[in-house]
Amino acid sequence: MLRVRSHGRGGQGIKTASQIMGTAAFLSGYQSQDFPLYGAERRGAPIVAFTRVSQKTILERGPISLPDLLLIGDETLLEDPQAAPICGSDEQTVLFINSEKDPQILKGSFNLPSLPVTCGLTKLCLQYLNDGMVRSTALGAAGARLTGRISLEDLLESVEIELDVMGIAGQPLQSNLDLVREVFGALNPVTIKEREESALSPSKLMVLEQKEVQDAAPIITATRNMVQRKTGNWRIHRPEIDYEDCNNCMICYARCPEGVIEMDPEGKPVIDYDHCKGCMICAQECPKHSIKTLWEMDYELEPQ
Ligand code: SF4
Ligand code: SF4
Repeated sequence: MLRVRSHGRGGQGIKTASQIMGTAAFLSGYQSQDFPLYGAERRGAPIVAFTRVSQKTILERGPISLPDLLLIGDETLLEDPQAAPICGSDEQTVLFINSEKDPQILKGSFNLPSLPVTCGLTKLCLQYLNDGMVRSTALGAAGARLTGRISLEDLLESVEIELDVMGIAGQPLQSNLDLVREVFGALNPVTIKEREESALSPSKLMVLEQKEVQDAAPIITATRNMVQRKTGNWRIHRPEIDYEDCNNCMICYARCPEGVIEMDPEGKPVIDYDHCKGCMICAQECPKHSIKTLWEMDYELEPQ
C-alpha cells in the first residue's frame, strides 16, 4: 500500500489535492482512500490530508504517521515546529516541497531525511490561475505524477470530477487542466518503496469507549495563553499600512478579529506581526484603502 501525507494551510486546497490523488488512483484501477484532518481554525492554519492507494482492499484507517510520499504544499510549514510536517518521515520517504529553492539547501536547512523533489507550484498557479493561494490541482498533480501509478488521462478526469463538485467549469476548469498538464510534465515519477506491513504497527481492532468530557477533550484553563502561539507564520498575505495615507480612523483596530492591531501613543495603528494571521480583513475594511496586501514570500506577481 502507498501512503501519502499532504501538508499545507487552510485555504490552499490540500484536502482537494488528496481527493484528486485518491480519485485518480481509483480511476487507474486502484483502491483508494482520502481524508483531511483539521480543527476549527481557519485560513492559514496548518492542515494535513491523507491518501492511501492499494491494489488490495484498504482496511487501514486513521492518520498516516509513516508516509511513503510526503507532499508539502507550503514551505513556510518547515519552520513551524507545531505543524512539524517532516514528523514521521525517514530516508525511505519521498519528499516533495512546493519551493523554488535548491533541494540541497532545503535538505541542509531543515535537516530533511532525504533530498526533496521540488517544483515552484505557487508560481505556476499564479501563471495559470492568477491565484497563488489555491494549490489543490497543482499539488494533486505533483503527487499523482510522483507515484508513477497514475496516467495523465486519469488525473485529468479526476480533476474534472473533483472541480465539478465544487461548481468549477468553463475557463477556470480549463486553466486548471492546463496547470495539471504542466505540473505532470515538469516532474518525473520516482521510485517509491512501499513499506512492509510488518514495519508498521500491527493492525488492531480498537474499541473506543465513551469517556467523560474532561478526559475525552482537552480543556485549556490557563488564561492569556494564545500569545504563546505565534500565528504570524500562518500568513500567506501580509498587511502593510501606508502611514502617509492613513487617517488614524481606528477601523482596522476595531475590525481585526485577532486583536493584533494596536494604536500607538500618536494614534497610529501598529500591527503585531508575530500574531497577525494574514486574514486581510483589515485591508478590506480600511475606508482609505491604506493597507496594502503583499505576499509573505517573495513572488513577482501581485497578490489577488
Ligand atoms: S491581516 Fe489584518 S485583520 Fe487579519 S489578523 Fe492581520 S492585522 Fe488582523
Ligand atoms: S482603517 Fe485604514 S485609515 Fe483607518 S486607521 Fe486603519 S489603516 Fe488607517
